Amino acid sequence: MTDVESIADPTGADGNATHRVVVIGSGFGGLFGTKALRRADVEVTMIAKTTHHLFQPLLYQVATGILSEGEIAPPTREILSSQANARVLLGEVTDIDLEARTVTSQVLGRSTVTSYDSLLVAAGASQSYFGNDQFAEFAPGMKSIDDALELRGRIFGAFELAELGANRGDDVDHLLTFVVVGAGPTGVEMAGQIAELAHRTLRRDFRAINTRHARVILVDAAGQVLPPFGAKLGAKTRTELEKIGVEVMLGAMVTGVDERGLEVKLKDGRVEHISAVTKIWAAGVQANPLGQTLAEQTGAPLDRAGRIGVNPDLTLPGHPEVFVVGDMIALDNLPGVAQVAIQGAKYAAKEIRNRLDGKAPQQPFKYFDKGSMAIISKFNAVAMVGNIRLSGIVAWLMWLVIHLVYLTGFKNRVSALMRWAITFVSNDRSERTTTEQQIFARAALSRLEHGAADLVTDPGAYDAEVAAEVESRRRELEATAEEQARLTDSGARGIRDA
Ligand SMILES: Cc1cc2nc3c(=O)[nH]c(=O)nc-3n(C[C@H](O)[C@H](O)[C@H](O)COP(=O)(O)OP(=O)(O)OC[C@H]3O[C@@H](n4cnc5c(N)ncnc54)[C@H](O)[C@@H]3O)c2cc1C
Repeated sequence: MTDVESIADPTGADGNATHRVVVIGSGFGGLFGTKALRRADVEVTMIAKTTHHLFQPLLYQVATGILSEGEIAPPTREILSSQANARVLLGEVTDIDLEARTVTSQVLGRSTVTSYDSLLVAAGASQSYFGNDQFAEFAPGMKSIDDALELRGRIFGAFELAELGANRGDDVDHLLTFVVVGAGPTGVEMAGQIAELAHRTLRRDFRAINTRHARVILVDAAGQVLPPFGAKLGAKTRTELEKIGVEVMLGAMVTGVDERGLEVKLKDGRVEHISAVTKIWAAGVQANPLGQTLAEQTGAPLDRAGRIGVNPDLTLPGHPEVFVVGDMIALDNLPGVAQVAIQGAKYAAKEIRNRLDGKAPQQPFKYFDKGSMAIISKFNAVAMVGNIRLSGIVAWLMWLVIHLVYLTGFKNRVSALMRWAITFVSNDRSERTTTEQQIFARAALSRLEHGAADLVTDPGAYDAEVAAEVESRRRELEATAEEQARLTDSGARGIRDA
């Protein structure tokens, strides 16, 4: 695969003095940072490796058939269509050169270099398998739309295979056992939803299996569920999960994962094997590797999760023009939540505006904690706002309102509300469609040396191949015409070759 490098520099190189801001990422930090620059006299270029803005807190609802992917991931281009000073570029950033002030991004082997005057890095985090990346093949995480659709395929597919197996008289327990690793909010929500699927939504749809016999196991090495919510809400959540049929296995460290199951080591040293085809990894995060690139160039420290230490104003040491926000940063033990990214990005955008307006710098960044919540099951959630702890339907209603407010776009809010009405009133789910490709495409692509880039023609090669083909056809036609003329002129037609 050859690289063709193009320089995308529409604003500065030709002497235009407009301040160029490059934003990396279209998640919470990237989108809110770009929007906060709406009225600034700047040119914003947002570079992201997906074309959508993803509302990660609702990924589990895509994975379990409640919402469609479009409802939680609207196109970034559409969201920013009315922001005249912003443009969107698709590309995975592979390098940041702080000295040259350029960002290099790639798409299907095509490379783009974009220059900046100010840089906002909001590239988020990915799943961490704590050094056991081989687990990922059998226990996908839940960070992207691809992950959620793959999980949807795996979950609904497991019930289908169990039905087939039961028809043959096979033991199908391993197909009807679902293990969620990690008892944080995502793990709790996922386990609760799979239990609801098995015990409510699917119970009348199969003939050979009883979906209510499915086991849903929530595993965590920690001693409690939802540690950041405190002991009391953690214990309450555990009880509520058990009431809807989730088995909670705490103090259990996952030491092995394969196609058929996983191995856990318990606190007392015992090792247990759980036979389960469907495993979901919701434990641990690893900050984006761009943090490493930035750390190498600035000497800023990285913590164990790869988060970069930033100055109190979210800039990098020695580089006041570079801001890093959200899940990528290690500052004051801030949690990896959406509000940290949103507030950080707004702060960085304001600082850029202040500098351009010649105003004094702001006070150091201060995070305002608006609270946390996790849904357990229908009409049941836990929430923590300041010193107030809530659970049950009140917390669930709060969850509903807050998620509606933060979901991007009016049409997505209306359609999510309708889907929720269907799910919560009738136990039904609107998005149960799955395909074989959703389940296996990721593994297939990972076997190609350059991923999807191996499936398209090299940059520039397509035109060259077409030109060569046209030339060869032309030569063939000319040769045929010459031969026809020769046969006629020489009177050789009708005479058999000797
Ligand atoms: C399943 C799940 C549930 C969650 N639930 C909650 C919740 O209920 N409440 C809450 O507050 N928080 C929740 N979070 C956490 C919250 O989503 C994150 O803290 C937040 O998204 C962080 O924002 P960010 O901008 O730092 O990163 P992200 O929102 O992750 O955005 C990162 C962006 O960078 C892009 N990107 C990554 N690498 C590159 C690259 N090399 N080049 C170009 N683009 C790149 C990505 O495509 C993405 O657009 C949840 C997270 C997950 C995964």
